[in-house]
Amino acid sequence: MIQLVRGFKDILPEELSLWQYIEKKAISLFSAFGYKEIRLPLLEKSALFARSIGEGTDIVEKEMYSFIDRNEEWLTLRPEATASVVRAYIQHKMYATEPLRKLFTIGPMFRRERPQKGRYRQFYQIGVEAFGSASPLLDAQMIYMPMLFLSRLGVKDVKVHVNSLGCEECRPIYKEKLLSFINTKEAQLCPDCQRRKEVNPLRVLDCKVLSCKEAIVGVPDVLGSLCGACDTHFKIVLEILSRQKVPFEISPSLVRGLDYYTRTAFEIQTDLLGAQSAIAGGGRYDGLVSALGGPSTPAIGFAFGLDRLAEVVSQYQTILPLGLDVFIAALGEKSQGKAFDWLCELAKQGFTVEMDFDGRSLKSQMKQADRLNARFALIIGEEELSQGAVIFRNMETKEQISISTQEVVQVIADTISFK
Ligand code: AMP
Repeated sequence: MIQLVRGFKDILPEELSLWQYIEKKAISLFSAFGYKEIRLPLLEKSALFARSIGEGTDIVEKEMYSFIDRNEEWLTLRPEATASVVRAYIQHKMYATEPLRKLFTIGPMFRRERPQKGRYRQFYQIGVEAFGSASPLLDAQMIYMPMLFLSRLGVKDVKVHVNSLGCEECRPIYKEKLLSFINTKEAQLCPDCQRRKEVNPLRVLDCKVLSCKEAIVGVPDVLGSLCGACDTHFKIVLEILSRQKVPFEISPSLVRGLDYYTRTAFEIQTDLLGAQSAIAGGGRYDGLVSALGGPSTPAIGFAFGLDRLAEVVSQYQTILPLGLDVFIAALGEKSQGKAFDWLCELAKQGFTVEMDFDGRSLKSQMKQADRLNARFALIIGEEELSQGAVIFRNMETKEQISISTQEVVQVIADTISFK
């Protein structure tokens, strides 16, 4: 038997009802803040990711699913959505129509990471991006929104880790300081970091290898190198978060795994997921639009990992699998024919409705109605049918009434609509 590809997974209907619940909440909340959905292709030119995420990053160096297309062009299954959103923003000249463009996107991402619990090679993200404002108010909104979202989902015990990575003025100075420090620890670094420290020393701060983690103890703090403008920006963001009572912690070693971040960077973490503690991450990327060929445009965004989010939410609440409005139990061939007509009529009106096609016993049909979590059952017996009546049963209270065949659809529609 051919099995799934390693690191990939099926999301079965039982699990998916929770995902749909989360997605619905996300769409409603982000829409309330004025964000609009955008749908983008899963495949992009490889150069897009190399130029945005950065050549020295794990994602670009080791984790991308790339292949040469028949026209000899390198293509990549997207490892994240920000680069694609920026590409679309520039390609469709969105900057020309609205000064502040607010977008969100939901879909799968692909990274060839080492699979483990909470880390997959195809995973899903809900990403939110805003283009056109450098205001710290927008940074605060980008942190406030995901935290509000978590609270709406009933998730507690999460914390935002925030840092500032400075701008093109002050970051080079910090990189210099960092590199001098790292060079004194060169022997302790993993081969990857020894090589990439020159390309981007910040990557060493993000390395998962234990000896690298030990090597950076006592590393100079990025916050100590911020220029006046970045320092003020960061302080305003923190002040708003305090005012809004968002629980945060300043984490000076948080650099995130992508190169494009400037100023505010953040990650939302929980203790409920073991080693994979990050459920969302994001930050400002004021230089990315121009680096990819667009006009200079400040921007900021974040992404939730939907797989991890669903895992966390399921620890706080049980969302019943989406039930059924009506199960139609029919006994005998004539009743089945009638059941089929009513099934079509009720489905046309938007109710969720099912029946048994195979003439099982009443007992086994009622069992099926229970399994499907039906709220009501319509029971059609041959004899009652010939007298122009059927039984309508409330599966929860077990009350049942006899209704005339003429009124079936009307009674069901009235009862269900006001329940
Ligand atoms: P990133 O794009 O790396 O900032 O990731 C944003 C969020 O996506 C993380 O906080 C995780 O929740 C989720 N995520 C990233 N990589 C994976 C993965 N391989 N498997 C599952 N979730 C992931």
